[in-house]
Amino acid sequence: MRKKIFAANWKMNLGPTAAAGFIREFRERWTPNDAEVVFFPSALAFAAVRDAAGDPCPFKLGVQNVYTVDSGAFTGENSAPMAKDAGAHYVLVGHSERRHVFGETDAECAAKCAIVERSGLTPLLCVGETLEERNSGHARDVVTRQLREGLSRLDQPERAASVLAYEPVWCIGSGKHATPRDASEIHGVLRTVLRSLVGDRADSVRILYGGSASPDNAAELLAAEDVDGLLVGGASLKVDSWLSICAS
Ligand code: PEP
Repeated sequence: MRKKIFAANWKMNLGPTAAAGFIREFRERWTPNDAEVVFFPSALAFAAVRDAAGDPCPFKLGVQNVYTVDSGAFTGENSAPMAKDAGAHYVLVGHSERRHVFGETDAECAAKCAIVERSGLTPLLCVGETLEERNSGHARDVVTRQLREGLSRLDQPERAASVLAYEPVWCIGSGKHATPRDASEIHGVLRTVLRSLVGDRADSVRILYGGSASPDNAAELLAAEDVDGLLVGGASLKVDSWLSICAS
């Protein structure tokens, strides 16, 4: 049995004050269950979220992005060792907005996964096809390439590649979500690729679906084969809808 994950990607929303208020309210109203809950606040709100979560922290925290080296003259960037020091467990790598708004390449994703692993954190590599790629029948090839290349520089892929997300680009923030059957199909492709890379350890990798997940569709997406959790943007920004998703 793979433990389900509900991961909130707050993107560039909720500054320190709003984020801390969200966490306090969420903690008061949330009934923990068997699933793992993860928050990816903005880097500036990270400490506020960690402090509001309390000690011991009942959920896991992650950062939305790191640079490809440990430290140096890279104004505006954050590094994986800094994320570790701040209390992060996960780092998102290759989110569609990083790939398509900021032009991040597979090679950069591979470098980021590698530095995240070497810093003792877990990369959460995101893969997904555009609508054009899907319509031209290339969805499987695109996610296969992104997965293989993203993990290509890990020292110990069988340990570090423990969580992935399939996020079709055309579903993110669009109100359209993949059908459970389409999500299962691509998750199955990813697991097959993983099996070729890490053998039987592929069975324990958790593959999240992301793209307009909401309280209305969470249960049906989670019931789909090979869907081990949800990575959620918009619907994670309100306590009510996030609580409802986490209870799905
Ligand atoms: C995301 O940004 O990872 C995401 C899935 O966004 P949304 O839920 O808003 O589509």
